[in-house]
Amino acid sequence: MLKDPVCGMKIDEKSTTILKSDYRNKTYYFCSRGCKKSFDDNPSKYTGESTDEEQSCCC
Ligand SMILES: [Zn+2]
Repeated sequence: MLKDPVCGMKIDEKSTTILKSDYRNKTYYFCSRGCKKSFDDNPSKYTGESTDEEQSCCC
């Protein structure tokens, strides 16, 4: 089973409606166009990589 990193939904890899995106040599799969778009707009948010601008601390 694959997992949509945006909404967390499980995706059947045999599904014909799968959407995917390549980011930094990894392939990510999405359940819908909306999820793919969210990912494409801000991939680092969903891959768990921190970006320089988001490294602020609340304390
Ligand atoms: Zn989704």
